[in-house]
Amino acid sequence: MQPTDPRDAQIAALRAFANEVVDCHTGTLEGCDIEEMAVKHGLMETVTVTGPCCEDACVCAEFGFPMDCYRKAGALAAAPDAKQEVGNE
Ligand SMILES: [Zn+2]
Repeated sequence: MQPTDPRDAQIAALRAFANEVVDCHTGTLEGCDIEEMAVKHGLMETVTVTGPCCEDACVCAEFGFPMDCYRKAGALAAAPDAKQEVGNE
């Protein structure tokens, strides 16, 4: 039996997440819903922070501390920055 390629699990997680997002296309999907789905599929994780977690424009700082900061995990943690990839203006 061949060892399982870890990328298979990453692709499965991304597919499951994408399907859940697409299934909500007729509803109102808020940012917090997307975060919850991403955590569910292992694509984000929460880290409890007691101060700003990045130097400029830390979103967490808007909500006060301590709070749960959502960070990329699994397949997303290794992915290139989406903004660079898409060429965001
Ligand atoms: Zn944060």
